[in-house]
Amino acid sequence: MTDADDLAEQVLAGDLRLYELEDHADHDTAAAARRKLLESETDATLDTVGQYAFPAEDAETAIENMVGTIQVPLGVAGPVAVSGGSADGEYYLPLATTEGALLASVNRGCSVIDSAGGADARVTKQGMTRAPVFRVQGITEAEEVVNWVRDNRDALAETAESTTNHGELLDVTTYVVGDSVFLRFVYDTKDAMGMNMATIATREAASLVEEETPASLVALSGNLCSDKKPAAINAVEGRGRSVTADVKIPREVVEERLHTTPEAIEEANTRKNLVGSAKAGALGFNAHAANVVAAAFLATGQDAAQVVEGSNAITTVEAREDELYASVSIASLEVGTVGGGTKLPTQAEALDVLGLRGGGDPAGSNADALAEIITVGALAGELSLLAALASRHLSSAHEELGR
Ligand code: NAP
Repeated sequence: MTDADDLAEQVLAGDLRLYELEDHADHDTAAAARRKLLESETDATLDTVGQYAFPAEDAETAIENMVGTIQVPLGVAGPVAVSGGSADGEYYLPLATTEGALLASVNRGCSVIDSAGGADARVTKQGMTRAPVFRVQGITEAEEVVNWVRDNRDALAETAESTTNHGELLDVTTYVVGDSVFLRFVYDTKDAMGMNMATIATREAASLVEEETPASLVALSGNLCSDKKPAAINAVEGRGRSVTADVKIPREVVEERLHTTPEAIEEANTRKNLVGSAKAGALGFNAHAANVVAAAFLATGQDAAQVVEGSNAITTVEAREDELYASVSIASLEVGTVGGGTKLPTQAEALDVLGLRGGGDPAGSNADALAEIITVGALAGELSLLAALASRHLSSAHEELGR
């Protein structure tokens, strides 16, 4: 009997718990034992799930109860020229998805952007947030907390930053609702997406608030952060990186390569992305930015649930005399090139494709560059889809006119 069989039987007999297997065997054997257990308890065979290319130990900080890996096809779009605040050059954008036609669409957009001389991109705001909620007895105590926070910004920064070598406290905003006080801490987390970093730093700062004021901490995250939930505060104030990419495409390139006109693309954008989204009460005024954000997140080891915030994007299009102006502004793109899933060997290789694995020089520049490139990818996706809609509209209009 193999170690894995033995471990699986011990779990079935109730002598071991599913999460304890790594205490008794190496990580790969533990994962194999869980597969055997699942195969004996269900109708599943997990041969493919069990074939993975890196030691299970490498995923130790990424998952518990590991049984194997799910493989998502990885493709590449580009190259596309990006002139950013940090990104600079021609990039192939790695994208992992199961949505057929996505890569083809983004690739077409990249090619058109490249023909136009590339896209500009800038991170205009940066800050990862954590917003604990405190209980007070009423509004007079709430005011006391608000005043203390206003007058003790330096002490809060010193305390929060004592937990990290890279993080810097940028701001603390206070919100009062009845006998609840929320403090929204904003950090520069450099090349880390920063959610753990910000949480650890805020825990320390919250202790100081409890020591010095009548406030009592109820939850380290009071949902005003706001992590992994659709929330207007992220769309308005930003979270992670606020980043814009834009491009000016000569009219003849639009006509030759996209088979439509700047005016038709502008109309499609206005009626669909702006009017339609407004009518729907959407936070994202775009066609499918989340497609590129999700595929780039999976490829490069970002936290997939934060695609929620990454979809807070507004696409603008303007038909100018000799060109088409198009932009995508993502308000809350939460990305990192260190920490979390970026350390997994396959995801780290995808970051290598961009030349952005690990910390940047200066710190923060790699994550800025990644945000800029993803946003250019989103712009490519928007252009391609809007052009497809516009050219279809034009061809049907032509058919009608021809009759
Ligand atoms: P992390 O893996 O927890 O920490 C990364 C660490 O890398 C930083 O704390 C920093 O250490 C260090 N570092 C080295 N070089 C750096 C550089 N150039 N720039 C910045 N940091 C550098 O990563 P994280 O980004 O803070 O958190 C991401 C993880 O949080 C993901 O796994 C995500 O799934 C998870 N997550 C957590 C929560 C939560 O509520 N806790 C919520 C959502 C997601 P120093 O701090 O010592 O400088």
